[in-house]
Amino acid sequence: MDCLFCKIAAGEIPSKKVYEDEQVYAFYDIDPQAPVHVLLIPKAHIASAAEITPENSAVVAHIFEVAAALAKELGLDDGFRIVSNCGESAGQTVRHLHFHLMGGRSFAWPAG
Ligand code: AMP
Ligand code: ZN
Repeated sequence: MDCLFCKIAAGEIPSKKVYEDEQVYAFYDIDPQAPVHVLLIPKAHIASAAEITPENSAVVAHIFEVAAALAKELGLDDGFRIVSNCGESAGQTVRHLHFHLMGGRSFAWPAG
């Protein structure tokens, strides 16, 4: 499948790895929007949050466990934001489910 994040998870395209296990791959965003900006992805291809089902949702819980651990490891003690853009109007540009873990600055709410 011609999917950028499948290739990154498989090591076929280089990335700055932060964490990896059997189900999850985490790496630094190439265009960081905060001092810390990590992407967490399932290794198995899921196109977006709209494609999460009872059959594939376990990995999402696991991603949030990894995100909490990484936030501690990366020193995001003051807080952080986790975002998943889903679909065109939300600004999703890569059609492989990913969660942005961002911290190291203040964030406005509601997000623009
Ligand atoms: P989204 O726009 O929510 O779909 O997020 C996609 C993210 O992937 C953006 O923040 C991009 O900067 C990031 N990105 C695109 N290509 C790469 C890459 N090769 N390595 C790391 N991050 C990437
Ligand atoms: Zn993929």
